[in-house]
Amino acid sequence: MLFVGYESLETQKENIKIEVDNTTREFETRIKAGVGSVLYLHAAAEEIYKNRALSLKYAKKVHEVNAHGDFVLDIDVLSNLTGFGGLEKNKEVLHEMASSLELTRYFMIVKGLNKSFVRVYYASKHKFATSYPYVWSDQYMWNASMMQKAPWMMATPVLNPTRELFFTPLHKEMQKDRTLLTIGHPVYNKDKFLGTVNLDISVASESAFLDSKNQYDGTYVIVNPSGQIIAASGLDGYTTTAIFNAKELLDEKLLSQPFTEGKHIDIDGNYVCIKKFEMVPWKLIYLKNKTDLYIMPLYYTGMLLSIIVLLFGVKLLIGRLANSRNELERQALTDPMTKLYNRRYLSEITQHMLGLMRRSSSNLAVIMLDIDKFKNVNDTYGHQVGDEVIIKLAETLQEHTRKSDVVCRLGGEEFLVLLPETDVEGAMLKAETFRKVVEALSLTLADELELKFTISLGVSEVKIDEENFDAAMSRADAALYEAKESGRNKVCLHKVDEDSEEQ
Ligand code: GH3
Ligand code: MG
Ligand code: MG
Repeated sequence: MLFVGYESLETQKENIKIEVDNTTREFETRIKAGVGSVLYLHAAAEEIYKNRALSLKYAKKVHEVNAHGDFVLDIDVLSNLTGFGGLEKNKEVLHEMASSLELTRYFMIVKGLNKSFVRVYYASKHKFATSYPYVWSDQYMWNASMMQKAPWMMATPVLNPTRELFFTPLHKEMQKDRTLLTIGHPVYNKDKFLGTVNLDISVASESAFLDSKNQYDGTYVIVNPSGQIIAASGLDGYTTTAIFNAKELLDEKLLSQPFTEGKHIDIDGNYVCIKKFEMVPWKLIYLKNKTDLYIMPLYYTGMLLSIIVLLFGVKLLIGRLANSRNELERQALTDPMTKLYNRRYLSEITQHMLGLMRRSSSNLAVIMLDIDKFKNVNDTYGHQVGDEVIIKLAETLQEHTRKSDVVCRLGGEEFLVLLPETDVEGAMLKAETFRKVVEALSLTLADELELKFTISLGVSEVKIDEENFDAAMSRADAALYEAKESGRNKVCLHKVDEDSEEQ
């Protein structure tokens, strides 16, 4: 469906006005997703901090790593806590650390909502930060200089007495060549200032968005109150890898213009629109050279469709944010049937686990398991009973694992258990426990029938020098295959070194 037409000059002017109106609104909707995310994190943080019964187990593992008093947590699989200036281990700080670690799960969800969201973190007045995704402490540590800068400087009671959500000026990412903008919100507990939750957004994608809207080859510029260019399209001299002040690239006269209130104005041979955003203190400047307007084909239907699709997508996103946070968490990380973690979570977590393992030279073992002759269960009792068996197995695996272990449903009736700080001997024992417990289970069906089932398991260990998790997965898979081949209801081990003597 493509309608190609030709426009009169008047129609072009009218259509440019519509384009600029729509772009302004859509741009704002994009930013709203970031604002919604930060409000969500803030609500989650304040709720978590109220929970005095939070386990301090992981927070207690935070430890100093050098004589300067830098400290890190490198044991818990879900955390990336680093700090400086000496570790205070009083109850209040431990509780705050535990709360921020608990928040990491929400960071993960927010990060997944939009590609331009690059980092989500909590920064504390107690000189530490907890962030997602993980950055190894040998690459980056929260440090004193961070507390002299935004977002920290925009969160403190002195500088943000009304405790409002804030937008930082643009800043450059530490290691990469990216320009970032941070949206943050101060966090208080019982009227005491604790810290700030923050979302870093890479602004390059905002310019790409403007490019995609710029049908008439005009110039779009979005400027913040300090005059920085947040995003631009069709602006000579602008690149997204540097931070520009609008004064460097635009005429002073244009920048001092008031809002044009939905009309075009004529400045030096340009049609100009200057528009205000509702919820951010930025403005959008659009200009188009008058003599440059030409007869052009218009991909009308295509344009309209993409606007509708985009608006709809953003609406869904906002709707999801408004849902309860448990619902969000469930959707993003878990399998709906068993409530176990899903494959997506697995790929997130394994990279982190590998890093921890290397850093602390600890072990990481895997158990892969599959229900024996499960097709028979489905064929004999029906799919619904099959589902019940899968759910029962999921619960059993959860019951018999530690909090730091990760149980994941790979698909169908196949599961994976990650065991950090566990060697193959430990993993073999655990696998044998699973096997025995499942063998002893029995499900009572509607007509008083007892249903029993067994599982086969393959055990493997991750090698310290392995780049990723794939090889360990295939070794566990091979061991599982061996268990099936040798009669099922068995545990088999795939040794890391074929020539080693262990087992
Ligand atoms: P084996 O001992 O070799 O593993 O035999 P098996 O019959 O279990 O073989 P296989 O693992 O290949 O079969 C898995 C079956 O599980 C096939 C599929 O129909 C069924 N299945 C997969 N996902 C689900 C599910 O979510 N619910 C139910 N009820 N069945 C499922
Ligand atoms: Mg099977
Ligand atoms: Mg299978």
